[in-house]
Amino acid sequence: MDNLLKQKIFTSFNSNASEPSLAALCLELLTQQKTSWQELSHGYTALDNIRVRELRCSGFSVKLQFNPARIISTAAPVDKKSINKRPCFLCLENLPDAQRGIVYRQDFMILCNPYPIFPKHFTISHIRHIPQFLEGALPAFLSVAKDFGPDFNVFYNGPQSGASAPDHMHFQAAPVGVLPIEKEIQNSAYLFQKSIDSGERAYVGVNKYIMEEPPVTDLLRVDMKVGEEKAKELKEWRAKRDNAAWKKALDKLREVSKTDTNVMPTVIEAVKAGATVGEVCDVWRDVFGQYRPKEFIS
Ligand SMILES: [Zn+2]
Repeated sequence: MDNLLKQKIFTSFNSNASEPSLAALCLELLTQQKTSWQELSHGYTALDNIRVRELRCSGFSVKLQFNPARIISTAAPVDKKSINKRPCFLCLENLPDAQRGIVYRQDFMILCNPYPIFPKHFTISHIRHIPQFLEGALPAFLSVAKDFGPDFNVFYNGPQSGASAPDHMHFQAAPVGVLPIEKEIQNSAYLFQKSIDSGERAYVGVNKYIMEEPPVTDLLRVDMKVGEEKAKELKEWRAKRDNAAWKKALDKLREVSKTDTNVMPTVIEAVKAGATVGEVCDVWRDVFGQYRPKEFIS
């Protein structure tokens, strides 16, 4: 772990079984940062004095918050030129001196947002400066949401939906009950259920075309031990193969992959020498790299 990261760590979170929970650690971080980081404490004082108005539209509502202290963040220019020019405020080297974070499973850093729009507002920022792009980060997004637990909502602001850091991958977390969309989801679920109960909406198998015969039982369930056994078999496979021949075959594949020659005969040789699909792909990941989404703000 590099020194810069070390200096910025409040604590680390690695495990589901960790005590205290991630949410509790974040609240500790917030309490600590409010006393040691003046900008943050100003941000929360400003939040206490905001004016709020709810606008009801047909089928949804919008919450307006008037908070002059947020102007720096809200009105930040997000065109490509301005973004390239400004120091990225989510990169470790640009964090204010007093700012600390929770390292989340090696790849992310959980930080307090100094311009909060929620009573507890966290930014879950990638350790590296990579563009805001959900597709590749979806497993991490789900993992963060699960670890934050039921008292927090985790959300993603896409690069074209107002994120003031479209060039740096991040999620946000806020306590449940503060996002207007939550009310809409509840309302929509209520109306959906009501339309089924009243028969207005046909739901096959629930309120229409209900099957007479009893439901099928004893469906196939794959025993989780299968995975463990496969992992054991793979370990044994690796232990018994001729390591020198295996290494030679993969080295050859690496060299051939750098040319225009057909790689298939070399792949077959490598597999015969005991290489796994994953190891063949590792060679190619090394040679060709991995797909990284391009920055696509215009
Ligand atoms: Zn950055």
